[in-house]
Amino acid sequence: MPRAVVIGAGIGGLTAAIALKQTGWDVSVCERAPELREVGAGITLWTNAVKVLRKLGAGEAVEAAAAPIKTSEVRSWRGKLLIRADFGALGQRLGAPCIGIHRADLQAKLADALGREHIQYGMTCVAYNRDGKGANALFAEGDDVRGQILVGADGIKSLVRNQLLGPEQPRYAGYTAWRGVALIDRPEVPVGVTVLAMGRGSQVGMLPIGGGRTYWFATQNVPPDGVAGPGGHKADLLKLFGNWWPAFPAAVEATPDAAILRNDIIDRVPVRKWTDGRVALLGDSAHPTTPNLGQGACQAIESGYVLAKCLKEAETAEAGLSAYEQSRFDRTAQITNESWKVGKILAYENPLKCWFRDRMFGLLGGLSMRHTEKLIGVEV
Ligand SMILES: Cc1cc2nc3c(=O)[nH]c(=O)nc-3n(C[C@H](O)[C@H](O)[C@H](O)COP(=O)(O)OP(=O)(O)OC[C@H]3O[C@@H](n4cnc5c(N)ncnc54)[C@H](O)[C@@H]3O)c2cc1C
Repeated sequence: MPRAVVIGAGIGGLTAAIALKQTGWDVSVCERAPELREVGAGITLWTNAVKVLRKLGAGEAVEAAAAPIKTSEVRSWRGKLLIRADFGALGQRLGAPCIGIHRADLQAKLADALGREHIQYGMTCVAYNRDGKGANALFAEGDDVRGQILVGADGIKSLVRNQLLGPEQPRYAGYTAWRGVALIDRPEVPVGVTVLAMGRGSQVGMLPIGGGRTYWFATQNVPPDGVAGPGGHKADLLKLFGNWWPAFPAAVEATPDAAILRNDIIDRVPVRKWTDGRVALLGDSAHPTTPNLGQGACQAIESGYVLAKCLKEAETAEAGLSAYEQSRFDRTAQITNESWKVGKILAYENPLKCWFRDRMFGLLGGLSMRHTEKLIGVEV
């Protein structure tokens, strides 16, 4: 049985490993973290990703650990409703729902679907060597693991990408994001409802993710590499958003400061080269995007499935990897570019521009829903 070595047990690496295993590969996933951690906040998986997970046999377990998204609302920072969209009906029409889930739950369900014996933790890849028949991954811990293919699913700051394409800094989007999960029960955000509220140079969002938990995030236009003020992230957030739509500061209040994450939002300009012989990039290492369309992990899931499909259909591993690279570029590049532009609009600071944006969101709601339907209706 040919062996595939996957670097990174994130959402992309685990999905690729499941798909490869199902198409006849012996899979080894090598992950830097010492164990499967209960980290991260929430995540939205749209119909396109849920359909892939169903095809891989992981859909039922993932959906059972998630909360459905039936209604999506866009509001002004004070809470004025601008659009309400029916995602329940859209999911029914497209054949699978949109869901909100805790990242740790998603990763645990994917690890179960793969079989945890295929994942080795505490392995930090530092380089790879390749030849005509395969590739070796070299690890800081001293291991040398060989496979007929090597998949670099090691995230936006990927070591494999760095070696394959040469070093290049990610592109800073101009805003930072805080994320958290609160145990709250607010009438404004019942299970099934997701809310985005837009302000000047900031946006916030909330989404129940099951088990009484509500995922929230906030962004703010700031220079890169900022750190928490002396009072911590919570104090910073309450200062920035304390007078916003009340459900949001309530969620921040209910989140322990130590559990609040802060990351500068980064992506990379799309490039067409993701492979080097029998080595391929996947997920954020290949096609990182800003989170404004909520599609980064969804695209990693699509790519994992398509990678295995292309390898199965091709005569050689090189041909399969090259077909994968070609078939995924246009869709992922479109999403990265569109998400970047949406991010610029959400980050408007000028009051007139913000006023106009809020009006246009209300007026163009139907058009944007048709566009969303096209985006998430794609089946790989
Ligand atoms: C604020 C925010 C909100 C988001 N919201 C959404 C959303 O709602 N919906 C959505 O679809 N996407 C969302 N995304 C994007 C999503 O998180 C990513 O696209 C997704 O996690 C990419 O998965 P991945 O497996 O490619 O990479 P990662 O999740 O980054 O996983 C990479 C893995 O590789 C490991 N690793 C790294 N280097 C090495 C090494 N040298 N050796 C071994 N292992 C290594 C890491 O420890 C990690 O486990 C969001 C992103 C952000 C920042």
